Amino acid sequence: MAQTIFGKILSGEIPVEFVYEDEVCVAFNDVAPQAPVHILVIPRQPFEDAPTADTSTLGHILSIAAKLGKERCPNGFRLVTNIGEDGGQSVLHLHVHVLGGRALGWPPG
Ligand code: 5GP
Repeated sequence: MAQTIFGKILSGEIPVEFVYEDEVCVAFNDVAPQAPVHILVIPRQPFEDAPTADTSTLGHILSIAAKLGKERCPNGFRLVTNIGEDGGQSVLHLHVHVLGGRALGWPPG
């Protein structure tokens, strides 16, 4: 698989400050935030999307995303993982968006 922008962030080629990191994943602020809190949680392993990831990694990044959301958005938040073209995925490296800090509309566009 060709290296994505997130691969370059993981390798340090694109410098980004991590708000969280462990042996499985890293988290950083989205460059184009859609809410006051907009964090991306990505695995170090370059799975293309959620269906291709192993359950342990997927569970771990969801758990970390939920914990970051709870810490930073006590009033509530949303976890999103976009998949494929119709799902609006623009970076082919699994990531979970943590969105919060304001009331979020539903349904999404
Ligand atoms: P997707 O559209 O694939 O669900 O989400 C990709 C996200 O990555 C978008 O919200 C976009 O703003 C974010 N993004 C793309 N390039 C960069 C980057 O270089 N740095 C950061 N921090 N976020 C990025």
